[in-house]
Amino acid sequence: MESCLVWFQLDLRLRDQPALAAALAAGHIPVPCYCLDDALEDGWRPGGASRWWLGQSLQRLDAALAERGSRLVLRQGDTVEVLMALAEETGARHIYFNRRYEPWIKSLENRLKLAAAERGIQLHRYQCGLLFNPDEIATQSGKPYQVFTPYWRSCLSLPERAQGREAPAQLPALAAWPESIAPDAMAHMPRLPWVHGLASSWQPGENGGQLQLQRFIEHALADYAEGRDCPSQPLTSLLSPYLHFGELSIRQIWHAVDVDAPAHADSVSTSVQKYRAELGWREFAHHVMVHFPQTSDSPLREGFAAFPWVDNPEHLQRWQQGQTGYPWVDAGMRQLWQTGWMHNRVRMAAASFLVKHLRIHWLQGARWFWDTLVDADLPSNTLGWQWSAGCGADAAPYFRIFNPVLQGQKFDAEGEYVKRWLPELARLPAQYVHQPWQAPQNVLREAGITLGRDYPYPVVDHATAREQALVALERCRDNIAG
Ligand code: FAD
Repeated sequence: MESCLVWFQLDLRLRDQPALAAALAAGHIPVPCYCLDDALEDGWRPGGASRWWLGQSLQRLDAALAERGSRLVLRQGDTVEVLMALAEETGARHIYFNRRYEPWIKSLENRLKLAAAERGIQLHRYQCGLLFNPDEIATQSGKPYQVFTPYWRSCLSLPERAQGREAPAQLPALAAWPESIAPDAMAHMPRLPWVHGLASSWQPGENGGQLQLQRFIEHALADYAEGRDCPSQPLTSLLSPYLHFGELSIRQIWHAVDVDAPAHADSVSTSVQKYRAELGWREFAHHVMVHFPQTSDSPLREGFAAFPWVDNPEHLQRWQQGQTGYPWVDAGMRQLWQTGWMHNRVRMAAASFLVKHLRIHWLQGARWFWDTLVDADLPSNTLGWQWSAGCGADAAPYFRIFNPVLQGQKFDAEGEYVKRWLPELARLPAQYVHQPWQAPQNVLREAGITLGRDYPYPVVDHATAREQALVALERCRDNIAG
């Protein structure tokens, strides 16, 4: 049997794995391989939390391959050079892989095509990271969509996506395997206290993803539409890192949530639709990034390039450390630091606070999320930040400024979420938990809090910051309108 390379990227699974399935169907012995290429990702190489996840995920993929008689070959270096060297070492004449969508991938694939053609190696590329191919969705005038609702309507009018295949039970193996490096040596562990929080919050890998998907379907899906905005309730799927690393396939999730639940049929079907629409936002983020690749670093609405952002390292640091004095924002930032994840409702508030109350550039926030999120994903992170800053596709207008106190009171009325992540406020009555500076002295004393010592005063006053943001917006309104 002839060998071939199966090049894994953001598809670290064996179920619904078209590249692997095609290699097997062609009768090859697959050599599964992964290459960490630090020079590749145009300033967006994986951050600390992602690297931790990646190291874990590669170990699990290697173990899953070993159970089937194969193994994962890990290499580090220039991707094209590594793949060409590995092809030569194993005598492979074919490379199978699944498509990625980040801006830098085109030039990599072009280099790969040239190098492969010179050596007579054939490339086989498959699409499995998305439900809808970004190249096939367009407005009636043939342009890419910039607004979610018509984009999603157009997607839903297409035929239902097929189910993916099961994982192969056995894999043919080489008699002698090429050299490989250990996953933990490759993925550079970030510093330890941080890793401990990640490790106790998550189980990376395909099996961990399957368990989380089952947990979500059994315990949360039915209440998703109602409860997804309340961060104190575990009612969202927590599947974003598994989707980012491709440990679960989007097609598998799409079909798995189509549950049969006659008891609460209406509410369940509303929840399924709502959940699938959230998957649709992920699709939309990729659609925007494929068609507007410059948005990873510049605003889609170009006029925002002239916005008078403020450079204030002290404010940035207080935001990063969850010390702004606004509990709703701080709880989110501490959840992020401790677990590598933040609830979507709070992500929006924390991002809005940075770009509007502090007027710090959205890219500074995007970079912090990039380093600390286990689900850090260039299309979704960019869309989220540009949405928050008002400068992206289908974005919230800049002049709509979230009030962090009212948002907290609306989505965390009893303060359960805030108290979980800010234990120093645990004894404060609910009416003050989102604005401790309004609590009378005796209430603070009974709750064991001295403001300025146990918890900070607000870094900025909401009303003043709002006014200043609107003035800044006015100063470049002509550019923005254009
Ligand atoms: P669920 O509510 O269970 O949603 C299911 C899935 O749908 C998610 O796993 C995710 O893949 C997708 N999804 C949901 N909402 C969005 C959205 N708004 N945009 C894109 N996809 C979505 N998501 C990331 O996956 N990676 C990021 O780096 C990222 N950065 C963000 C930055 C900001 C400033 C904001 C406001 C949002 C960001 N999001 C990002 C989107 C969203 O917050 C997360 O996808 C969601 O919180 C993940 O939790 P979940 O899996 O429980 O979501």
